[in-house]
Amino acid sequence: MIQLENTVTKDLLAEAEKSLLFTARRPELVMERGEGMFLWDTEGKRYLDFIGGWAVNSLGHSPAALQTALARQASTLVHASPGFHNKAMIEFAGLLTGVSGMDKVFFASSGAEANESAIKLARKHGAVNLNGAYEIITLTNSFHGRTLATMSATGKPQWKELFAPKVDGFNHVPINDLDACFAAVTNDTCAIMLELVQGEGGVNAVSESYLYGLRKICDMYGILLIFDEIQTGMGRTGRMFAYEHYGIKPDVLTLGKGIGAGFPLSAMLTSEKYDLFEPGEQGGTYCGAPLAMAAGHAVLQELLERNLAANAKVQGEYIRKGLLELSGQYPITAVRGKGLLLAFNVQGGAASELAAECLREGLLVNAPGPSTIRLVPPLIVEQRDIDEMLSILGKAFGKLKLA
Ligand SMILES: *Cc1c(COP(=O)(O)O)cnc(C)c1O
Repeated sequence: MIQLENTVTKDLLAEAEKSLLFTARRPELVMERGEGMFLWDTEGKRYLDFIGGWAVNSLGHSPAALQTALARQASTLVHASPGFHNKAMIEFAGLLTGVSGMDKVFFASSGAEANESAIKLARKHGAVNLNGAYEIITLTNSFHGRTLATMSATGKPQWKELFAPKVDGFNHVPINDLDACFAAVTNDTCAIMLELVQGEGGVNAVSESYLYGLRKICDMYGILLIFDEIQTGMGRTGRMFAYEHYGIKPDVLTLGKGIGAGFPLSAMLTSEKYDLFEPGEQGGTYCGAPLAMAAGHAVLQELLERNLAANAKVQGEYIRKGLLELSGQYPITAVRGKGLLLAFNVQGGAASELAAECLREGLLVNAPGPSTIRLVPPLIVEQRDIDEMLSILGKAFGKLKLA
């Protein structure tokens, strides 16, 4: 446990315990401020951030581009009602469809909402074009969100019995097993939905031949191929979208996390021919709200102008090289991932212990599984940040006597 000298922090933690609904075990500290690659807690302790708000803070903390865009939009128009077009929404829609190579976009606030939207669009396609087909094939160990439908789509084994009864119509198959997917397709299937690199599942990528096979299955049966790029999109993997690594385009693409760089924003994109919703079937109070649109627009412009996808590729390779060097001394295995969505294994369940030791040393890394450490730093990360990260990581390994 961290010793708390400062009563302000102690009081805040007591208030948190008293008034916040318990949903997560969190360390005994309170974050207060962020800048670039760093966060500071209420004790003034600095943390080098290789979690990046869970792959969200693509431009680092409190980026100037976001500050300016939000301030400007806030003084112009904050909310206009979803019943009207607004200028910021139209401008951002034009830019995002152009950059993504998709025709149409629907905006929402969270990744789960974007995926809900994709699920509804797939069912609409089934209703209109496939004699009422409604089943969606998703992958084991996938993660698609925490609403009831996206939890049902998610392939986490520990969620299987949770909040029963689940939303019906999801069929889970193992990753990179084309025969299993092919066997799961029935007359009721309207879509296949997957992450190209499973993020929460431990950073596992789909193979090229598998994805090529899925595209063929979808074309053959007229079912939708949905890529959940909520974690892999917006430059994270070293290309603007992970699908560019494979040269295979989806029918539906969902984006979240890095798209708002911290401002709540998500998107579902599709092609002209799946522009299928009737008025009233899909929408939401905050869908396309001006502040979020201004944020998204500024973030995408910044990603493009600074070519941060290319930086993700370069720095990702530098991290891999560093991890491979460290693996000579410490039990680091299975270094994997693309760009700045990286992970490695540590021996027998020591991941959360290692992450906790890093936290004490002022480094934020994430342990999505008992033996997996994931690194998803802001896309602005530089070599000196990586050198510091590797040095703290080595220290933490040494301290835990994991060798
Ligand atoms: C985080 C994530 C989601 C859910 O996004 P929220 O904004 O938490 O609702 C969905 N899919 C993937 C791949 C994610 O990484």
